Amino acid sequence: PTDGATSMIRAIPTRDVHRITSGQVVLDLQTAVKELIENALDASATNIAIHFRDYGADSFEVVDNGTGIDPSNYTSVALKHYTSKLSSFSDLALVRTFGFRGEALSSLCALAKVTIHTATSEQAPMGTILHFARSGKVESDTGRAARQRGTTITIEGLFKTLPVRRKEFEKNLKREYTKAQNLLQAYALVTKGVRWTTTNTPAGGRKTPQFSVNSSSADNYLTANVSALFGAKVAPTLMPLNLELTFSVARSRGRLLQSAAGSEDGDGDGSTAQREETSTVKVVGLISKPVYGSGRTSSDRQFFYINGRPWEAGRVSRAFNEVYKSFNSNHFPFVIADFRLPTDSYDVNVSPDKRTIFLHEESRLIEKVKEALEELFAPSRATFLVNGAS
Ligand code: ADP
Ligand code: MG
Repeated sequence: PTDGATSMIRAIPTRDVHRITSGQVVLDLQTAVKELIENALDASATNIAIHFRDYGADSFEVVDNGTGIDPSNYTSVALKHYTSKLSSFSDLALVRTFGFRGEALSSLCALAKVTIHTATSEQAPMGTILHFARSGKVESDTGRAARQRGTTITIEGLFKTLPVRRKEFEKNLKREYTKAQNLLQAYALVTKGVRWTTTNTPAGGRKTPQFSVNSSSADNYLTANVSALFGAKVAPTLMPLNLELTFSVARSRGRLLQSAAGSEDGDGDGSTAQREETSTVKVVGLISKPVYGSGRTSSDRQFFYINGRPWEAGRVSRAFNEVYKSFNSNHFPFVIADFRLPTDSYDVNVSPDKRTIFLHEESRLIEKVKEALEELFAPSRATFLVNGAS
């Protein structure tokens, strides 16, 4: 009411709660696709295919050859906060899987028509087809159909339960689709031993391959992935990135752990426990040799990760460009850089879509990155000088 009268406080009907909270995990096509492929990776898939129909507006589908879903989990798989990946709150600091909140499938059910076709090794070659209601409950028309071990998740009519959002999505379809493809590329680049294929079937058209990467598990998998995605000419312009950054940090135990495990500093005021520790961060990947550069804008062809998760690196990526510029003023470097961090030095929990990853010691990390890059490129500076003098 606008007259200032106090409205009665009521519980939001369950159905609407699903619609409200779903907005947090699945923001757009890109995050929807991301959740599905992370589930496939968490299920140890080595073959992941993503099929779009009408750029995702009609449907999209992720097919994996992972573990499959056990029949005992069918009823809970898409219920909110049901996950097979975390058994207690204190596990949070040790999370190695991409997922752990048990929110993605429940959110998707609230936003679209979700169908799962799955088989574990016991069931294969016969799988089960599950249809889900908006609430995440399995509908009664469960069927059986042939399937090798693995899981296919199909999402039809994304955002159709939210008409305004759906309209936005349709209006920006091509841009949304490009963002989703870019994210898929970022995963395909960095994963070892996974075969990725993506296709799109435009309305009234035929199925068109988008990209495919057949990553080996050999040591040079990164180079092979680059060649598969960007052509054979790129790899020779790159050099390995293999930095080891050691610095002393005041490590906080983190609020989440604190509340789960109780205060560890003994003063009982619930403040965050701090202690000085030496931390080692490895940065593994590929970067343009100073004489080359990718000749493109900075955001293009620069891929940053934290422990294999695509990461919008912000200040850290600017540090890379800054150092590179002092060796090659004409180009931005091609970069693949996976920061291997101890799991308690970053926080994947700050943003619901897990895209923003919070680093506790970002400024110190940046200093170390700059020093290490200077050192890596220093020999090229010497070469330039020698060449210039002769
Ligand atoms: P989370 O990944 O955080 O656990 P999700 O809603 O993404 O939550 O998935 C819920 C559960 O469904 C997972 O914990 C997992 O047990 C199961 N699951 C989802 N996708 C797959 C898949 N592709 N293969 C096997 N299991 C899956
Ligand atoms: Mg998940």
